Amino acid sequence: MKRVLSLLLLCIASLLTAAVPVVGQSELPRNIIFLIGDGMGAGQITAMKTVLGEMALDEFPVGGFSLTQSLNDFVTESAAGGTALSTGERTNNYRLAQRPDGTPLRTLLEVARAQGKAVGVISTSSVTHATPASFLSHVANRKMEFEIAEQIATSGADVVIGGGRKFFLPKEHGGGREDGRNLVDEMKNVGYAYADAHASDLPDHGRLLWLLADDGLPAAGQRSYSQRELVEVAVDLLSRQEKGFVLMVEGSQIDWAAHDNDFTTLKEELRDFDGAIAEALSFAKQDGRTLIVVTADHETGGLALVGNAPDGTDAEARWIWGEHTANMVPVLAYGPSSARFGGIHRNNEIGRMLQELLIPR
Ligand SMILES: [Zn+2]
Repeated sequence: MKRVLSLLLLCIASLLTAAVPVVGQSELPRNIIFLIGDGMGAGQITAMKTVLGEMALDEFPVGGFSLTQSLNDFVTESAAGGTALSTGERTNNYRLAQRPDGTPLRTLLEVARAQGKAVGVISTSSVTHATPASFLSHVANRKMEFEIAEQIATSGADVVIGGGRKFFLPKEHGGGREDGRNLVDEMKNVGYAYADAHASDLPDHGRLLWLLADDGLPAAGQRSYSQRELVEVAVDLLSRQEKGFVLMVEGSQIDWAAHDNDFTTLKEELRDFDGAIAEALSFAKQDGRTLIVVTADHETGGLALVGNAPDGTDAEARWIWGEHTANMVPVLAYGPSSARFGGIHRNNEIGRMLQELLIPR
C-alpha cells in the first residue's frame, strides 16, 4: 500500500511539473536565437538606449561581458570573433571555423542540425561575410567569399537571408562567379525557395534562400524593410520544426557605421537591430522555451558618449579611431538557461556554452 501511495505521489508530482511552462533560467532551451551586433560595445548600447528611450534589451534579466580577443591578436576581427562565438574555440584572425592548422571546428549550426533542429542565418551584410560565414563555412580566409557561398549551398541551413547574390550567381546571370556555377539553381534543386528582392509573400517550400542585394544590404535608413521583418519570416519558417531551431541574426552594419565614425548612421542601424531583438523577444515570450543571447564579436571605434542634458538629448559621440578595440562587450540573455551567461566570459566560452545547451546530457 505504501508503495502504491508513493507511486501515486510520484505521478502527481510529475503531472504538476509537466504543467509548469519551462521559463526558468536554469532549464534547457528548445530554441536559441543568437543576435550578434557587429561592433556593438557598451558605447553603442548606450547610444541605443539614449536614442530609443525604451529598448528590447531593457527586458533582458541577465547581463555579462565577453572578452573578445582572438588566438593571435589582442584585437580581433569579425572572422575570429565569429568563430569563437560559433565554435567555442578561438582561432587566428581572418580564419573561419578552422584552427590555425586548418582543422575544421564544429559550428553551432552543425551541432544543432545533428540534434535534428532547423537552423538559419540572417545578416544585413552579404551572407558570405565574416560573421554569418563563421556559422556556415570553414575556410582559411574570410575573403574567400565565392568558396564560402559554395559551402553555404551545401550547409543544409534551412533559412539563409541577407545580401551576397553576386557570390552565388555566375557572370552570365549578373553575378560574379567565374566558374559558371549557379548556386541559386543548385539550391533550388535541393528544395529551397528563392527570392531576390523584398516581397511580402515569399514562395514557401519550407527552406528559404533570400538574397536581397548583390553585396551588403542597403543601410537601415535606406531600406524599405526592417530587419525585424526578416526575423519574423525566419522564425515563422524555423519554428515549424518539431525539435526546435537555432537562428543567428547579425546586425552587420553597426560595425560599418562605427568604422566610419558616423553617429547618425549608427543610430539608424541600432534602431533597426533593436527591432530584430524585439521580434525575437516577442516570439520567446510566447514560446517560453527559447533562449535569446545578444552580444557582439568586438567593439568598433572606441565610442564614448558625452553631453550635458541629463536625459542625453544632446548626446554627442566621441570616437578614438576607425578600427576595432579590445574592449569587453556586453552579453545579455533572456529565457531558459540564460543565467549561465551572466558574469565575465571569454568569447569562446559563450560559444561553448551555447553548443552544450544543444547536447542532451
Ligand atoms: Zn565584426
